[in-house]
Amino acid sequence: MPNSPYSQAAAAISNATALVITAGAGMGVDSGLPDFRGNQGFWNAYPMYERLGLSFVQAANPGHFERDPLFGWGFYGHRTNLYRATVPHRGFGLLRQWIERFDLDHFVVTSNVDGQFQKAGFAEERMLEVHGSIHHLQCSVPCHHDIWPNLDRFNIDETTMRADRAPACPRCQRVARPNILMFGDYSWLHQRTSAQEDNFDNFLQANGSGQLVVIEMGAGSAIPTIRSLSERLGRLKRARVIRVNPREPQISAPHFSFAGGALETLDKIESHLN
Ligand SMILES: [Zn+2]
Repeated sequence: MPNSPYSQAAAAISNATALVITAGAGMGVDSGLPDFRGNQGFWNAYPMYERLGLSFVQAANPGHFERDPLFGWGFYGHRTNLYRATVPHRGFGLLRQWIERFDLDHFVVTSNVDGQFQKAGFAEERMLEVHGSIHHLQCSVPCHHDIWPNLDRFNIDETTMRADRAPACPRCQRVARPNILMFGDYSWLHQRTSAQEDNFDNFLQANGSGQLVVIEMGAGSAIPTIRSLSERLGRLKRARVIRVNPREPQISAPHFSFAGGALETLDKIESHLN
């Protein structure tokens, strides 16, 4: 079917001058990562928090680091280990192949804190991690504005969700925390993400009037940051958005809507690029 939506999306990519990849939690599902959608989604991934009566919003709360650092690091240490052990799925590689093949200037904007794009070979200076990164730490106070790499190792007791250790701020020796924007978070340091935003602004200055294609994957409407950004970029004159989402694929023409997972949809588009 030469005129199927997949072949049209493939044509948009092969004619593009630049690519923006926007990704939410659904991007990681094909790598085996949990999507914390809804309380049940969170508790399926972390049954111990269901027993403790904690929702995702309550577990992802900076207050734990102050009150009970080892419990705070139970959740984030577990996720640090999980993301370090995860191999990014083949879809990341397909995106990199298209970038190379069609010589696309590109940028990644993600609400994920898991570092999977860098792990898949995307360059640090082409990343905007809007909610920060688990692979970076900051002081929980914070007593100063430094953000440093998370090189710590954690063992988590999965019955209590407590870590065996909590990293400390090198300056004040209070507990360090991930440089992730949490719920009800007034101490997150934005400097690293702000520098990434500057890079993205420069990218848009250079590419915004070109043939821009936005591929959005697994970004839901519950926390709509990524979806809104894709739609805003879609209003640029020559831009096309390819929205990939198994549950909420809606977007109006001339943009493309695919009700499917990230990897299966990228595979189908790839099959029309040949
Ligand atoms: Zn400190």
